[in-house]
Parts: sequence; C-alpha cells; structure tokens
Amino acid sequence: MKDDLPYDDTSPVPVLKGKPRPEALAPAPQLRGQEEVTYDDTAEVPVLKGKPRPEEAEIVTEGEPGLGCHSGSEMELAARMAGQSEMLDQYARDYPQGPHDKPQSMCPAFGSLRVGLRMKRVATVLSGSACCVYGLTFVSHFYGARRSVGYVPFSSETLVTGKLFEDIRESVHDLADPDKYDAIVVTNLCVPTASGVPLRLLPDEINGVRIVGIDVPGFGIPTHAEAKDVLAGAMLKYAREEIKAGPVAAPLGLASDLPTVSILGEMFPADPMMIGQMLAPLDLAPGPVVPCREWRELYAALDCGAVAAIHPFYTAAVREFEAAGKPIVGSAPVGYDGTAAWLKNIGDAFGIASDKVAVAQNTFLPGIKGALSAKPIKGTVTLSGYEGSELIVARLLIESGADVKYVGSACAKSDWSADDAEWLKSKGVEVNFRASLEDDCNAMRDVKPDLAIGTTPVVQEAKQLAIPGLYFTNLISARPLMGPAGAGSLAEVINAAIAGKERMDHMREFFEGVGSHDTAGVWEGDPNLRPEFREMNVRKMEKAKKAEKAQEMI
Ligand code: SF4
Repeated sequence: MKDDLPYDDTSPVPVLKGKPRPEALAPAPQLRGQEEVTYDDTAEVPVLKGKPRPEEAEIVTEGEPGLGCHSGSEMELAARMAGQSEMLDQYARDYPQGPHDKPQSMCPAFGSLRVGLRMKRVATVLSGSACCVYGLTFVSHFYGARRSVGYVPFSSETLVTGKLFEDIRESVHDLADPDKYDAIVVTNLCVPTASGVPLRLLPDEINGVRIVGIDVPGFGIPTHAEAKDVLAGAMLKYAREEIKAGPVAAPLGLASDLPTVSILGEMFPADPMMIGQMLAPLDLAPGPVVPCREWRELYAALDCGAVAAIHPFYTAAVREFEAAGKPIVGSAPVGYDGTAAWLKNIGDAFGIASDKVAVAQNTFLPGIKGALSAKPIKGTVTLSGYEGSELIVARLLIESGADVKYVGSACAKSDWSADDAEWLKSKGVEVNFRASLEDDCNAMRDVKPDLAIGTTPVVQEAKQLAIPGLYFTNLISARPLMGPAGAGSLAEVINAAIAGKERMDHMREFFEGVGSHDTAGVWEGDPNLRPEFREMNVRKMEKAKKAEKAQEMI
C-alpha cells in the first residue's frame, strides 16, 4: 500500500481556532486617532423630532373613505386603466347609473351568485376580497343555497403579478369534472375587475364543462337585480353560440309542441303556471323562466316564439333574445288592465286573430275583477324596492283600491316598463326610476302614508315615524301577482299592516326618549357628540371631488 501522497500544500496549513468575541469591538489599532471617512453630508442632516399630538388632531381623509363598495369612482378609473373600458361602457349602456354611483342595497354580485347557485350542475367560483366573499357566501347560505361557493383567494402580489389569473385557471381546471358539472361560473368582484384580471382569457370549455367568466363590480352594476341579468345574458350568449354551432341537447321534460313564451324574471313559483293557464286559449305554452334552473333550459328559452319581459331590467338577456330574432313583450298580466293589455300584446307578437285574444281575455278578466273587488285595499301607500317588479305591484295595489302616491325603483327605466310607468302616471302616481334611498325616504316623509312598502332602511325609517312598513322583498315579492291568482293576493297582508298603525304609535311611545341616530340607545351620561368631525370630513370629501373633477378637465 502506497503512502498518502500530498497533491498540494493544504495539509500543512494550520487550522484556525476562533477566539471569544470582545464585548464591544474597539477600533482597529491602525485606525485609532484617525478621522471618520465620509462621502457626503448626510450625517449632518438634523433628525426630525416629533411633537406631541394636539388634543383635537385633524382627521385627514384623502378622497372617499376606504376602498370597496364606497369608492366606485377610483375603482372604475383603475379598471379603465387596466383595459376594462369596453366592458364598463357596455355596462353603462345596459345599466345607466342613477343619482348615486355606489350600491345602496346589498352587494350587486349577490344577484349573479344566486342565479348560479340555483342552477343544477353549475359550480360558482368567486374571485374577490375575502371580506366581500365572506359576506356574499353568508348571504347565499342565509337564503338557503345548497351548494358551496368556490373561492380563489389572492394577495397583493398575486393580484399585481397576474398570478391570480393563473390560480383561477388552475382551480377551474381542477373543478371541471363533466360527471358533476355542465358549467362553471367564475365571477370577478370589485378588486379583480379593477385590476383587470382577464377572465375572458379562460378557455370556453374544459373536458366538456362550459366556463363562463363574468365581471360583476359594484361600480358598474348598480343593483343586485341587474347582476342577475349579467349572468343570464352571458349564459344565453354562450347557449346561442352552441346552437349556431350545431345540434344541442333537448331540454328534459318538454311539456308540449305548442309555440312558447319564455318568461324573464324570477317570480313566485305559481306565477309561471298562472301565465300558462292564460296562454292556453291562445294555443301557446309557457317556456322556461330565465334565469334558468339548468343549462338545457337555455336552449328551450331561445327556441321560444316570444319573450315576456315580466321583470324589465334584463337588458343583456333581451339583447340575446333579439339576436335570436325573438320579439319581446313588456309589462305583465297583473290586475284587470294589465292582463287585458298583456294578452293583446302577446297575441300581436304571435299574429293571433283578435277574436281569439278576446276569448282569452273574456275567460280571465271577469274573475280578476271579481277577486279585486272582493278584497279591497283602503289606504295611502308609498312603494319602493330594488327587485324591478315595483311598478307591476303598484298597478295591482291601485286596482285593489289603494291610493298609491309614490313608486321608486332602484332599477333603471326601460322599454319594457314604459307601459306600466305610463299607466301609473295616468293615475297620478309619481314614478321614480333609479330612485335612491334618500328619494324613497323623502317621499315617505312627505306623503306620510298609511303604509310604506320598501327596502329595509325605508321600513326602519317608517317605523321610527310610527308609519306601518312592509319589507318589499320578503313580504310582497314572495306572493303570486299574475292573473286571477294575483288579484287580491296582497290584500290580506297590506290591510293587516295598515291596521297595525295603533301598535306602531304605541311602540313609538314606548321607545320615546331612548334617542335616535347617533344618540340611539340608553346612555349613562350625555352622548359625546362630535358633529364637527363629520362636517369636516364632508368638506374634505367635497374638496377632493372638486379636485378630481378639475383633474378630469385637464
Ligand atoms: S364586491 Fe360587493 S361587497 Fe365587495 S366591494 Fe364590490 S360591491 Fe362591495
């Protein structure tokens, strides 16, 4: 065996041993006594010292407070800079803004989320801030959603680097199981829309599962009613392209070979059946209700002879029906006049002879008149809501005998509510489209009605004024309205509420002195009111708005 041969001279190098580090390092001997070498004069710059904060520090607000539902203009600007102008311009045409540029009801995206969650074999995925998604998921389950809501979370980094889009794409690929789903709906909420997360770049389908990407920002869609239209319109568009491309699956359970009338708008389950009964003498049948409950119904809806725009805000859906060559009939078969006119308009859309239409009218109108007079409503009413059906409800109330002074709808005016607005105005009713909460409350305070029907804050305000109030969404829209079944259906609940005036007075007396608004509740001392803070913030916000306007003009 050979001795180990050295290949270099590392072996004789002594191994260095560490020494304990001195407590504080002294300057190296060679630097002792020398001046510190400096390269600029930063060391000379005096350090700023803070001063004690004065008792009443000025509150600084830049623009509107926080980001979210209440910062529509900044978000919209950001979205436009991120290339979303075309989509926002289309939304502005479909859903013209009103006196306010932020939602005054629940998050608009709830409308489209609910439409997706109610469809069979459809998965829904949200992309947005966790707080928005939490709220939307909570409300969905509060209203009985039986399915989970998918969520792709993000951080500032994934948002700005584009990784969020990759995450969404990955999650959609993971989810796209054709045994479970016909379609996956991916929804961009405010922040991803403002950041330009490009859902349009998602594949149209994965493994046979359709992918529908929509942007539903609060700064482009004013109400949750109109958000339903965003998804309904996107799905109809998709289905129309499928029909154009070749044969599609027949809907399950097709009831008849008669020409059909598709029905636009979510309504009380008995209403489509009632509409079907009224269509039978015309040899017509009701088609699917849009928003649909399953994908195949979209094909059947597009295969109709005409569309009944019972809810008048479905602009995008109407665009698809019109592109498919289907005529649209506005208003609804509510009350005597409404049903008579609607049957005539349906007859005209199908070119049905007037005597045949008269048969249908004579079959149902006497019953409607009888039901209305059997259950009269007495009292003054103001009515407001964000469902889009406010005008037809007001018609029914007036024909039942109510003195309706004001109707406010958070939805915009459209061609399909024009006849209702005309009819109401001819009865002396003030009709206010895109009504704000302030409009509705002011009308109620001016009229001092026997009953205020409205949204939660309107009803709350009414109760504080000892005016009986009914919540539109839960108590009015959840009742049949169409034809003979609708006539008289509201009388019981309305009359009971009006009769509760005494109870409201008693309640007001009971709560007298507990304070209201800022001073609501029971206080041990005097409430610490600081109205100047609020005034100062209002002034600052006005100033910021003016500056923003001036900037736009440059
Ligand atoms: S997504 Fe809805 S809750 Fe969230 S900021 Fe927009 S409008 Fe508000």
